[in-house]
Amino acid sequence: MNHAQLTALGRALRLLGEHGEALGSDTPDAKLHEVKADVRRALELLEESVTAAKPTTRCPEHPNGPVDKGAPDLCLLCETRRRAARRDEFNGPAPNPQQPTEHPVQSRYGVRGDRPQPQQRWLPELWNGQSWQLCGTPRRDRREAELFIAAQRRAPRAAMAYRLVHEFTDYEVLRVWGTPVRVDIEPMGNL
Ligand SMILES: [Zn+2]
Repeated sequence: MNHAQLTALGRALRLLGEHGEALGSDTPDAKLHEVKADVRRALELLEESVTAAKPTTRCPEHPNGPVDKGAPDLCLLCETRRRAARRDEFNGPAPNPQQPTEHPVQSRYGVRGDRPQPQQRWLPELWNGQSWQLCGTPRRDRREAELFIAAQRRAPRAAMAYRLVHEFTDYEVLRVWGTPVRVDIEPMGNL
């Protein structure tokens, strides 16, 4: 129900209440006809509001939003938000990529904070007459991908059309074993 519908329906229902208050044995037929018209009007408004927005989720915030069958309230938007919150809980505060950490952890695999989070890439694609196909290396930088496509378009045997696809990869912690407590690394310590 949108705001305009809510306002109109509220007004119509309150009017019915007033009719009820004013009703008496001396109420003339003309008044009853007026009441009948107002009841009909309120019913129409109610039907509009109900059929226009049958909720798809049980979420009060996004009743008609996309559905996630696995979510307790069926709301994909809120479930995505909850998932991100759970992930932050597991990972601790997000590392600031601009500032190197005081004690860089040496690991042949690196730490997750070393990688862009979430990871995104830009894929140059060309139209081959039948479908879109990748026409160059996926780039980490959008500007670079656009320059690449611009160069491709100027080439002698350029394709009919090009497009830039944004690939977005998110990470999700599935399960944690043990308790990750932040420990200070001793200056001479060996990991
Ligand atoms: Zn929601």
